[in-house]
Amino acid sequence: MTTQTAEFGVIGGSGFYSFLDDIDEVHVDTPYGAPSDRIAIGTLGDRRVAFVPRHGRDHRYPPHKIPYRANLWALRSLGVRQVLAPSAVGALTPTYGPGTLAIPDQFVDRTSGRAQTYYDEGAAIHVSFADPYCPTGRAAAVKTAATAGWEPVDGGTLVVIEGPRFSTRAESQWFAAQGWTLVGMTGHPEAVLARELALCYTPVCLVTDLDAGIEEGEGVTMDEVFRVFGENIGRLRTLVTDLVQALPAERTCPCGHALDGMKLPLELP
Ligand SMILES: [Zn+2]
Repeated sequence: MTTQTAEFGVIGGSGFYSFLDDIDEVHVDTPYGAPSDRIAIGTLGDRRVAFVPRHGRDHRYPPHKIPYRANLWALRSLGVRQVLAPSAVGALTPTYGPGTLAIPDQFVDRTSGRAQTYYDEGAAIHVSFADPYCPTGRAAAVKTAATAGWEPVDGGTLVVIEGPRFSTRAESQWFAAQGWTLVGMTGHPEAVLARELALCYTPVCLVTDLDAGIEEGEGVTMDEVFRVFGENIGRLRTLVTDLVQALPAERTCPCGHALDGMKLPLELP
């Protein structure tokens, strides 16, 4: 184990490595196996930040195979209490073109078969999840982006699909008809596992494409997603850097109290 600690965590794509200063890379093991990769711990101003490459450094984990439980557990064991989660998403409305930034406030789980709880043995633990994201983190994300001139979509519902395939046109039109606005593949169970560890979790979504049923043409391709992500990674990294500075040093949001009064069947790291 490491003596390194960090209060803030970022789970994101590999384009984020260079955003930390004085990086130490640490191997962390957890009761749920190893996280996606070594965790980079470094500084941003006066903040200590731990970074997990969500898909592994070589992108070896597709969305349905990511060791989500190990990733969040590892962050908490390093001292992390506030997590930022940048990710690429599709839009379910043509008004959110590629390059749009969105900070959703709800999600709908359409995944299947992913390990999504730490509490599947011993006492039953049911966390409240009506509002899945940290209110303080969301507000800070919206304000920081707006200040940087990248006016974000504040709110909306992210549909998390199992993948790794993209949606059919019918699925996509169905999602849109429900009033849902974004589609992604990693937002669940990441957010709920954070809540189960009493961590703050804030999504930072970059729209890379319009989902299949929303536009004419061939639908989403992987090339398109990676191209748009590549074009925006610089400003997304800058935004996350600014956002880490904007988060409070001491938490006053409800996230840290998610497990208050519950008799946990395991000891949190
Ligand atoms: Zn919070």
